[in-house]
Amino acid sequence: EDGGPDSKATTLVMNSPSRTDIRWSDTTSYGPKKKLQAWCPLPNGDWALGKILTTSGLESIIAIDEKVVKLLTESLLPANPEILDGVDDLMQLSYLHEPSVLFNLQYRYSQDMIYTKAGPVLVAINPFKEVPLYGNDYIEAYKRKAIDGPHVYAIADIAIREMIRDEVNQSIIISGESGAGKTETAKIAMQYLAALGGGSGIEYEILQTNPILEAFGNAKTLRNDNSSRFSRVVQCTEGERSYHIFYQLCAGAPHCLKGFYNVTKLLGCGTGELKLALSTRKMKVGNDNIVQKLTLSQATDTRDALAKSIYACLFEWLVEQINKSLEAGKRRTGRSISILDIYGFESFDEYIQDGIDWAKVDFEDNQDCLNLFEKKPLGLLSLLDEESTFPNGSDLTFANKLKQHLNSNSCFRGERGKVFCVCHYAGEVMYDTSGFLEKNRDLLHMDSILLLSSCTCRLPQIFASKILSQSDKVMVNQYRSSVADSQKLSVATKFKGQLFQLMHRLENTTPHFIRCIKPNNLQLPGNYEQGLVLQQLRCCGVLEVVRISRSGYPTRMSHQKFAKRYGFLLLESVASQDPLSVSVAILHQFNILPEMYQVGYTKLFFRAGQRQMKCRIAKKNY
Ligand code: ADP
Ligand code: MG
Repeated sequence: EDGGPDSKATTLVMNSPSRTDIRWSDTTSYGPKKKLQAWCPLPNGDWALGKILTTSGLESIIAIDEKVVKLLTESLLPANPEILDGVDDLMQLSYLHEPSVLFNLQYRYSQDMIYTKAGPVLVAINPFKEVPLYGNDYIEAYKRKAIDGPHVYAIADIAIREMIRDEVNQSIIISGESGAGKTETAKIAMQYLAALGGGSGIEYEILQTNPILEAFGNAKTLRNDNSSRFSRVVQCTEGERSYHIFYQLCAGAPHCLKGFYNVTKLLGCGTGELKLALSTRKMKVGNDNIVQKLTLSQATDTRDALAKSIYACLFEWLVEQINKSLEAGKRRTGRSISILDIYGFESFDEYIQDGIDWAKVDFEDNQDCLNLFEKKPLGLLSLLDEESTFPNGSDLTFANKLKQHLNSNSCFRGERGKVFCVCHYAGEVMYDTSGFLEKNRDLLHMDSILLLSSCTCRLPQIFASKILSQSDKVMVNQYRSSVADSQKLSVATKFKGQLFQLMHRLENTTPHFIRCIKPNNLQLPGNYEQGLVLQQLRCCGVLEVVRISRSGYPTRMSHQKFAKRYGFLLLESVASQDPLSVSVAILHQFNILPEMYQVGYTKLFFRAGQRQMKCRIAKKNY
């Protein structure tokens, strides 16, 4: 009932997991032989396939294309037999290492097979051109299971089936760097859900709202012509653009509207009032109200903060309107599939909580880096929040505090001036603190809000009351009560809170993962840069995922669910009826090999896919 496109792959999980990543240097019996193919490291970091001419222990002579080179034998990696070229699940590779994965993905990509399974994860390589893989015929074929190749449709299909079967909310988590194809992939998943909804359901309507949200929320950046963005109303780098909607409006607005973008006319306020709000600040000193003139840069900041705030309010307002119209007259069914389009993150602590022996699976520990950001009171985020509240705090004093407090963390390196370096899981990133404090405060002065509320147009008024109701956004000048002051939240804190909420929501879903890969920075079709792809595969841990899938326990199910689903098959009733005992009894009755599963406190963990497990039980049953 849940046979999916990866049925072949799950059978292969059984393939001796011990073969994972054998290096020739491990044992002499695997040593390279003459005439064999091997992956050879090139000076530029790429890998090339070569043929071993002779090998003498330490060194080997290799033919790569027309050239003959001498290489250290231990630097070579074994190539897979040709029969495995382009397999649709990386788990099927006999030799699993970076060059074999890179080559397999490239082989498929060159034939427009942009989707590949990496165990439970779907890898999607951005084709940067139209590929004939979508549309009603394909949707129908996946629905009927007439085809079963790796595809976003297949993932969406599994999500729907599991939602119905298990009565559990599902999520499709799409990650990858900017321009890798996350948003397109999310739309493709929606397409499938919409088609299954009969072409008129809420999924279809949500899909129809995309052009509006993209016009207001997306902009061209250097990395993606249609990037989903925030807050780029006030500045953009050379070669980038503001939100699409500005250009669309300029191109399409009727003459009468073009006669206004003078901002005072659009907002419905006086020129003098606007000038005053942007160039002065009212303050209360003792019992006197005074008006302070702003410096040019303060005035620029004030203007930018106002523009950003208006745009953010507009976007939120649009989303509200869309949600309202989607909800009108719709019956909620209770279960959901969330599609998440996000720059990747992942949590692996579930096994540990469940008392599973995790030590066998090798996964790099990222705790130092997490501490660097999260630790209280001396983590990066806490320090940023603290510095943002100091009247004399500046980007430089912030950078200095980081260096003072974080230098002992192995993932941190202070650089000159306002610069510091963080060694993330994915690699090193250089940060410049210029503008950090201002962005983190993201405050709007009272004068600006009062200006909005005095406007004659309806929207600015709505925005003003909205901003006032979210008092964390407001820079409360001395003449306002200080109650709201304590409720101010920095951007970093708010963002962390939102992420936390999101994680919490996702924890209660069955997740399905799609990793989008950007094959080149030029956004061109048919161009596969090994180094760039490798960096992304490393950063999202694709190889580890495949390894874990082969050597770990990728499938899990609660004892309750397992007992409920298979309990009726038990020949003898179990004395104790608790779900854990029932599930263990089932496993015993069907002679499931002990190495194929581990029993946790709350869940069962399986090596092979659960479908295979079910097949075994079903087969024995008949
Ligand atoms: P991200 O959301 O990860 O930043 P996008 O989803 O906006 O990236 O993709 C960037 C661009 O790549 C798209 O505008 C489109 O031109 C191209 N693209 C991405 N996925 C596909 C696909 N499956 N087929 C064709 N083109 C794609
Ligand atoms: Mg996007």
